[in-house]
Amino acid sequence: MINFKMKESAVKTIGVFTSGGDAPGMNAALRAVVRTASYYNLTCYGIREGYNGLIHDDFIKMGPRSVKNIINQGGTILRSARSLEFKTPEGRKTAYDNCVKHGIDALVCIGGDGTFTGAKIFNEEFGIKVIGVPGTIDNDIFGTDNTIGYDTALNTAMEAIDKIRDTATSHNRVFFVEVMGRDAGFIALNSGIATGAVEILIPERKDSLEDLFGAFIKAQNAGKTSSVVVVAEGEKLGNIYDISKATKEKFPDYDIRVTVLGHIQRGGSPSCADRVLASRLGYGAVVGLMEGQNKVMAGLQSNQLIYTPIEEAIKKHNEIDQDLLKISEILAI
Ligand code: ATP
Repeated sequence: MINFKMKESAVKTIGVFTSGGDAPGMNAALRAVVRTASYYNLTCYGIREGYNGLIHDDFIKMGPRSVKNIINQGGTILRSARSLEFKTPEGRKTAYDNCVKHGIDALVCIGGDGTFTGAKIFNEEFGIKVIGVPGTIDNDIFGTDNTIGYDTALNTAMEAIDKIRDTATSHNRVFFVEVMGRDAGFIALNSGIATGAVEILIPERKDSLEDLFGAFIKAQNAGKTSSVVVVAEGEKLGNIYDISKATKEKFPDYDIRVTVLGHIQRGGSPSCADRVLASRLGYGAVVGLMEGQNKVMAGLQSNQLIYTPIEEAIKKHNEIDQDLLKISEILAI
């Protein structure tokens, strides 16, 4: 490991916050940021409730013991928020004044693309250095193979669908299960493959009712007595209730049930993969700032820590793997 204590760091005092939708592993990322900062003798402030805390001067000095026993906790001890005030120039000016008051040179912003957009604007207006850490269950952020929280959410969805499948099989039922993902189908596609769904509906693909009905007929002809369809929240074909209604009209004999998994997917103790990812990215954010990185996002690609310009992380999106779509169809026979 490079000994950064030997080098002159580009920053001395950093702030860290969690923002946007919470995700399991945010605490592990926070812990990594605080402890890495402490290891390299940087002063570190935690800022409560995302950009709201920056505006309302809700800063708290943090050291290694402030983040004890949190690596296994879901949610975020700093709390998160969606701040409308930060979208105004006046709100951001107040935030800047508070950063100056506490001597903040740089901010570690743990959140999704909205959080990164706010960070980019703030940096361009006031010059405070920013670095993003991707914390969102949707996994749609460019510049990292996985976002913090995605693996945990995916496993939560998989375990819930497994349970639903047990009851579906016992009663010859068709279950439509909605999983999170307003714009992205990563949770739906991967949990659908992992649970053997007959069909997976995701916003990235143009789905049709004809194809869905065709999948049911195929399943029936193949001797399947129950079916699970996994639907991403943002599916373009319509909401899960409309899709289920249309299916009932087409197949009046089907015993159809709808389950919306909702917020259970955000909660719970982070998986091992998320804890390790969060630890690596939290560490990577701090050493990145020390080395002079600015306006970038720390990510992990092919197991390597990399820094992607924050603008790119915001504008581009992770693409759905076409092979996975094909595999899901082949394995559903
Ligand atoms: P998730 O992907 O989980 O929804 P997110 O970071 O994308 O997380 P958002 O609510 O979109 O969540 O953004 C978080 C916060 O970032 C917003 O509440 C706002 O304070 C700030 N933000 C977003 N867009 C802007 C913007 N254009 N200008 C200034 N601040 C912004």
